[in-house]
Amino acid sequence: MREQVVEKIKNAGIVGAGGAGFPTHIKVNADVDTVLVNGASCEPLLMSDPYLMEKEIDTVVEGLNTILDCTGAKKGYICLKGKHAKAMKSVQDAVDKDSTGRITLFELKDFYPSGDEQVLVKEVTGRTVPEAGIPLQVGVVVSNVESLFNIAKAMKDIPLTERYVTVTGEVGQDMVVKVPVGTIVSDLLEFAGGSKIADYRVVDGGPMMGRVLTDIDQPVTKVTSGLIVLPPDHNVVSQKVMDPAKIRKITGTVCCQCTHCSELCPRKLLGHSINPHKIMRSLSFGDIDNKARLEALLCCECGACEKFACPMGISPREVNALIKKDLMKDGIRWEGTGEEPKNHPFRNTRYIPTKRLMQRLNITKYDTHPTLVEGFVPDMVKIPLTQHIGAPAVCKVNVGDHVIKGDLIGEIPENALGARIHASIDGLVENIEAGVVTIRKV
Ligand code: SF4
Ligand code: SF4
Repeated sequence: MREQVVEKIKNAGIVGAGGAGFPTHIKVNADVDTVLVNGASCEPLLMSDPYLMEKEIDTVVEGLNTILDCTGAKKGYICLKGKHAKAMKSVQDAVDKDSTGRITLFELKDFYPSGDEQVLVKEVTGRTVPEAGIPLQVGVVVSNVESLFNIAKAMKDIPLTERYVTVTGEVGQDMVVKVPVGTIVSDLLEFAGGSKIADYRVVDGGPMMGRVLTDIDQPVTKVTSGLIVLPPDHNVVSQKVMDPAKIRKITGTVCCQCTHCSELCPRKLLGHSINPHKIMRSLSFGDIDNKARLEALLCCECGACEKFACPMGISPREVNALIKKDLMKDGIRWEGTGEEPKNHPFRNTRYIPTKRLMQRLNITKYDTHPTLVEGFVPDMVKIPLTQHIGAPAVCKVNVGDHVIKGDLIGEIPENALGARIHASIDGLVENIEAGVVTIRKV
């Protein structure tokens, strides 16, 4: 059973829809006792998961049952926030209907980052994932809602070719829209009525962890969850586009060592050995202390320190990200303290309320109920052969080939970690360049 499921997921090219794009066929090839469906929709404004749970819950539950069977897990929790009342009702109805008795609805508190995998595991199971560890180490697989939706389709041999994307901010019509993978961001924005402001930036992902696109002639990939159009001086944008040298300089001079960043860090609250204020302190002395530097490897880059905790408006997150990049380039990994993490005694009183966070981010006015739109199909898509963690897929088509939606266009290299890539529209392969396959409708 497991082998067949894993093979079908691999064939369908499924990668985690909620994060860095880890290939799902590797993740589910494991023995666990619990599967968590991550419907926290933790990033403010992103709405595709609650919508999928509201409108497509039967398919999501099909995917969940597949993963429960595959991993041997006895319990599956569908986790979402009570504020998504319609989704809550759909899930409860589906749970009541499910004959296996393994599935439970878990109502999450409305805080950030409730969707962080390690925080979610803690909230639902009470278990603490070890430092720099993964949920598997405590017998849990966490799966995104859209991944389960895709898994159910994979069992019917339908590959992953589409993505639900929230388009919001300063756009004509905010929406959650299903688009072919490879849809160009500018085409999608035009479909959403274009930008309402002349000068704007587009954040790819959520306001906390997303990145600002340098140009909008880029494709939607399997991991694109949202596009947020904002003024260039909006505080969600400005810190994301700051020059790293400037960040270090500001950090060294402005940090007042209040320790709020550490006191509200969700990973520190889990008991992990991360102390962002110490990293900031050592920066202000010009030379970073080595232990504090290594702790940057424990940062999940959630941005709670930068966007909520810090009274000085500086960013331990950016500093950690820069340090992490350097350490990882040098192959340095966290070796651990060897001690069991002990949760911070005040953890349960230090939840960051999403509503308050949105006020701080100045995005409350964009917190609407976007329309769900099925079926925007552009005339052209650009499909990258790398949309996942691992090796780029090997191109299986040539310029001039006719393809139909679902055809394999990129294969996992032999013995490598990776994911298959499929044509997302019917058309002609117009160009293959720099690892991107362009397909045009004919
Ligand atoms: S981004 Fe900040 S708050 Fe989040 S894990 Fe890293 S140090 Fe902690
Ligand atoms: S919250 Fe800001 S000012 Fe306070 S210690 Fe952290 S970085 Fe420094």
